[in-house]
Amino acid sequence: MTGLVAERSPEAVNPKLPTGEIEVVVEHYEVLNECEVLPFPVSDEEQMRKVSEELRIKHRYVDLRRPTMYQKLAVRAACVRNIRQYLDESGFLEIETPIMTKSTPEGARDYLVPYRLEPGKFYALPQSPQQYKQLLMVAGVERYYQIAKCFRDEAQRADRQPEFTQLDLEMSFVTQEDVIEVAEGVTRFVCNRVIEEFDLPLSPVSEFPRLTYDDALARFGTDKPDLRFGLELFDVTEIASESEFGVFRSAVEAGGIVRGIRYPGGAALSRKQIADMETFAKEFGAKGLAHLPVAASNDEEAKGIARFFSKEQLAKITQAASAEPGDLLLFVADRQSVTLNVLARLRNEIGDRCGLRDPMRLAFCWVLDFPLVLWDEEEGRWEASHHPFTSPKASDLEYLESDPGRVRADCYDIVCNGVEWASGSIRIHRPDVQARVFSLLGIDEASQQERFGHILQAFRLGAPPHGGIAPGIDRLVMLLLGEDNIREVMAFPKVGGGYDPLMDAPSEVDAAQLRELGILIETDPED
Ligand code: ASP
Repeated sequence: MTGLVAERSPEAVNPKLPTGEIEVVVEHYEVLNECEVLPFPVSDEEQMRKVSEELRIKHRYVDLRRPTMYQKLAVRAACVRNIRQYLDESGFLEIETPIMTKSTPEGARDYLVPYRLEPGKFYALPQSPQQYKQLLMVAGVERYYQIAKCFRDEAQRADRQPEFTQLDLEMSFVTQEDVIEVAEGVTRFVCNRVIEEFDLPLSPVSEFPRLTYDDALARFGTDKPDLRFGLELFDVTEIASESEFGVFRSAVEAGGIVRGIRYPGGAALSRKQIADMETFAKEFGAKGLAHLPVAASNDEEAKGIARFFSKEQLAKITQAASAEPGDLLLFVADRQSVTLNVLARLRNEIGDRCGLRDPMRLAFCWVLDFPLVLWDEEEGRWEASHHPFTSPKASDLEYLESDPGRVRADCYDIVCNGVEWASGSIRIHRPDVQARVFSLLGIDEASQQERFGHILQAFRLGAPPHGGIAPGIDRLVMLLLGEDNIREVMAFPKVGGGYDPLMDAPSEVDAAQLRELGILIETDPED
């Protein structure tokens, strides 16, 4: 189109548009392409809120025309650009590793790709580049990173997708402290740059506090604590065991614990509201939720579970809770794992209800010293708490066979606002230690050779000590934009169950293609 730019006549001026004061007097135009009626009104954000997500994703190329969506892509690109700048300047080499490979365990199912030349054989898509990055250390690379696609077939959640992107990095001849320095450095650099560049309504990110795994569990009930607010759990197991309250006493006698949490100003909650909190707690496995309003004065009638305790005991409880008159104390008495899990969830719920989870803050922290393995009740075996390549602490190695549960790992997570953001560790680099850990995880010698022979062999050929970490890029963009849906920060996400409505994938393939791959589809007669 060509024409002359002119001022609009006063009645045609539209102050809502950036170009609302001018118009073009067309001299010549050509229609490059015709456009049908759009599936939804992209220029009206208000209306867009009513459009179903599936429809938006089916027509993502239209949805992405909205400036708000473009901005998300731009923030994502800026994160990656700044990551590259920081790591390139710190002597890291960006290296791509294969997508068609062998299974590498990160706790999910694999996506498999059939191999045409030998029907019955499959590549697996990497759940992470974990083994390749370790092999690069054996290759003498020393400082590697990659903006890596990872593939995990696992239950979908608002913050998970079957394929997602990590900043994967690894370094040789390092201690935990060295990896922490780089990972925290790159995170702060990227966040603060992007916050500034896009004028995001977030406070700058400063130094990350550190917690041990045991501390995190004791204080917050979880290894993913939201540090934007206090409300730490308090322990009343001892007082409970001496009390008249049967529910508490029997939980302690059965080896359980009694912990509580403070609900600021919660004494004013109605019965119904307290019952709702109890329903919430039960959803996560609690048998009940005891409550104790903190009275404004000594003469007030005892409410909740107060009647089961002496004045001295009540005073001890309120002191342990740092409670103030008008607060409500909530208690769970159960096995340790149930008690902590329920209270951790309640803590976030109370944080939400009391407006304590400030959306303007990114509260990063380190969680250190994870156990190497956790006992899987259902399967009746030890499971790696991160992955099988994590190094036990040298001082705990002697307990690997005799008391695996007490072995700590050189393992560290970055948590932000209650979400695990990065997970890393110093790795095993000795073949004998790796074989012992595989055995502990129930992988016998024959499977070790078949599944991990390559890495055991590499460890025999001069493997240096090494370690690394892998922060999630999608989650970083979510945190920066205050988004709780991962699909909003991906150009072409999948919907529930891993379906891509835009491409209609996964889809059926030709019978000829299946024959070539030696694949026969069996349908269950029950279906
Ligand atoms: N491979 C690990 C993961 O994907 C991260 C790491 O240990 O570096 O969680």
